[in-house]
Amino acid sequence: MRAVRWHGAGDVRIEDVPPPPAPGPGEVRVRVAWCGLCGSDVHEYRYGPVRTPIEPHPVTGRSAPLIIGHEISGWVESAGTGVTAPEPGALVALNALLPCGRCEPCLRGDVQLCLTLGHLGQSADGGLAELVTVPASMAVTAPPGMAPDLVALAEPFAVAIRAIRHAGALSEQACVVLGAGSIGLAAAIILDAGGNRVTVLDVVEERLRHAARLGLRARQVADALGGGLRAPVVLECSGAASAGGTAVRLAAAGGVIVIVGLPGEPSTLDLADVALREITIAGSMSHLADADMAPAIAVLAAHAERALGIVTSRVPLAETVTGGLGVLAGPGRHRQAKILVRVADGG
Ligand SMILES: [Zn+2]
Ligand SMILES: [Zn+2]
Repeated sequence: MRAVRWHGAGDVRIEDVPPPPAPGPGEVRVRVAWCGLCGSDVHEYRYGPVRTPIEPHPVTGRSAPLIIGHEISGWVESAGTGVTAPEPGALVALNALLPCGRCEPCLRGDVQLCLTLGHLGQSADGGLAELVTVPASMAVTAPPGMAPDLVALAEPFAVAIRAIRHAGALSEQACVVLGAGSIGLAAAIILDAGGNRVTVLDVVEERLRHAARLGLRARQVADALGGGLRAPVVLECSGAASAGGTAVRLAAAGGVIVIVGLPGEPSTLDLADVALREITIAGSMSHLADADMAPAIAVLAAHAERALGIVTSRVPLAETVTGGLGVLAGPGRHRQAKILVRVADGG
């Protein structure tokens, strides 16, 4: 089958590889429809190995070269013994986490904090291939009639839902979202649909225009700071090293900042300001299948057209590098939010 494999930094190849094994007990094999490209894929392409194992991974036993891609939608092609759901033919999104199941965070249910967490498309073969075999528990079934490209947005929307949950129960709240990339836009769409007053901030004009086209209030970071904007909820989705300090300045007294973006270097924060104005800073890591991905699919189904608006480009599998990773690693990245790769012809 055709697959996209990471071999090294700057070395991602479109290759013919043997298909994954038929599903064993408790597993399903999925025919991939669409797979989104993520910031972490680009990071691995430019600078890897960051999370790609060079020695066998403790959970998966796998090491590079590996098939990348973890924002996956597809149809169940076959199911192993003991699998009652999903049934063959069902359209599913795949939860990407591969926890060990034995460490202390895993045993208390925080599998996203697993001490040796594996990840589809990073430490096991992922979704940029015609077929992928996974535990059936990783498949989240989409409601009838949902479009496969929309289902491929379940992972980034689940990340946004988890981040929002860290800010508490929100309604009619003023919220600032830093960063108009795919996670920031997803978070802003979810908050807006929930009746909150959302402002999206970025430093790149093209990104602000994109946010505005989605019906979101969008401002330059410098404008917002200069204008004294402050909000009880700030979601940091940009991953810029300076954004932590900016988030503190944007938070209202008693407010909460949720950090989702991953800066490549340590950030400088005014911690006296954090203490004096009782600001809470929470981290948010990835997502869970039941708690985050199932509600993400519900949000996507309810706001399909707007959610699909975060997709800026669609490319066939053969162009994953030239039209996808290479674009997201280059100067044209500012014009992109989410790039979807069409894996199945009928996708
Ligand atoms: Zn992702
Ligand atoms: Zn674990």
